[in-house]
Amino acid sequence: MTHKPAAKDRINAVRDKLGAKLRIFGHHYQHDSVLRHTDRQGDSLELSRLCAETDAEHIVFCGVHFMGESAALLARPGQRVYLPEPAADCVMSRTAPANAAMDVLRRITAAGRAVIPLAYVNTSVALKAVCGRHRGAVCTSANAETMMRWALDAAGRDGAVLFIPDKNLGSNTADRLNIPESLRLKISIREHVGLYCPQKNEINQAKLLLWPGCCAIHARFKPEQIAQLRKRHPKITIIAHPECSPDVIACSDAFGSTSRIIRYVEEAPDGAVIGIGTEWNLVHRLAQKYAGRKTILPLARSLCSHMAKVTEEKLADILEAILDGSAVPVSVDPRLAEPAKATLTRMLDACR
Ligand code: SF4
Repeated sequence: MTHKPAAKDRINAVRDKLGAKLRIFGHHYQHDSVLRHTDRQGDSLELSRLCAETDAEHIVFCGVHFMGESAALLARPGQRVYLPEPAADCVMSRTAPANAAMDVLRRITAAGRAVIPLAYVNTSVALKAVCGRHRGAVCTSANAETMMRWALDAAGRDGAVLFIPDKNLGSNTADRLNIPESLRLKISIREHVGLYCPQKNEINQAKLLLWPGCCAIHARFKPEQIAQLRKRHPKITIIAHPECSPDVIACSDAFGSTSRIIRYVEEAPDGAVIGIGTEWNLVHRLAQKYAGRKTILPLARSLCSHMAKVTEEKLADILEAILDGSAVPVSVDPRLAEPAKATLTRMLDACR
C-alpha cells in the first residue's frame, strides 16, 4: 500500500515546479497550518492591493469566497484566482442579498433622496455590482473612516449614505466621524419580501442609513467579558475589531482592523497584558508568537467556521489541480464584473 505524501510536501512540490508563476495569499484568520504556506498575509485591504499588484499567473487565495471574488475582479488579463475551498463563505456577506439592496436603494431614491451605497468588502460580487451602478464604493475595516467621508462627500449636502451590511462597523465609524445618532437610521429588512421599513420622513432626516447585518463571530464579544478580564488583570489593555458592537468598542482601549491589532501587540512593551476581541486563529497566533514576553488573552474563543474550512489538504489539492490543468478558477459574471470592480477601484483610488 502506498502512502499519500503529507500535505506540506505536496504543496512544496507544486511550489518548486511553478516558482514565480504562483502566489499564495492568506487572511489573518486562517489556521497556522495553512498560513505557513502563504507568500503574503494580510487583512482584506492589504490583500486587495497585493492582488492588484502581483504578476503571478496563478493566485491562490486562502480565505472566504468574497475575497476570491475581489481578487478575481482585480486580476490582470491572463491571471487566474483559485480558492482552496469555494464553499467557505462569509456569513455576514449573506445578510445583504443584492436584490434586497437594489429594492432598498430604489425605494430611498423614490422618496426623493440621493443616496450613495458604501459596502463593506465582505459582500458578494452581485451586491458590489449594485453599489457600483449607484456610484458607490466598498471599504474595509482598515479604511472605513476614509471611505465613509468619501461617501458623505459624494452624496452631497442633502444626500445620504447607505452602509451595507455591518451595522457595527457602520456605527463605530460614524462614532469616529462624530455623526450624531439623530442623523443615523438602522433600516429593517424583511429578507423574504425584500421590504424595508423606514418612514419617508425618517429617510429624509437621516444622513447615514445602516443595514442591519453583523458578523456572528464578533457578535459573541460582550462588555462583561472585558469587565472580567479587567478584574483579573488590572493592567490589561483591550483592543477589539470594529465588527464588535459599539458597546464593546466603548469598553475597549483601542480598536482596529486585524493589521492594526497585530501592530498594537507588536508595539506593546514586554510584560504587557492585552485582551483581544477578534477571531480566535489570530489571537492564538499572537499569543504563541509573544509567549514569555507578552500575555495575549481572547475576550472569548470565537472561531470563524467558514475560514476554518480551508485546510492544508485542500490547499495541496488545489495546487496539484492547477499543475495538472483541472483546477477551476473563480469566475465572475461578466455583467457584474465592471460595476463591481468600479467599487474596488474607487476604494483603492480614494485610499492611495
Ligand atoms: S469572521 Fe465574520 S466577517 Fe470575517 S469571514 Fe467570518 S463571518 Fe465573515
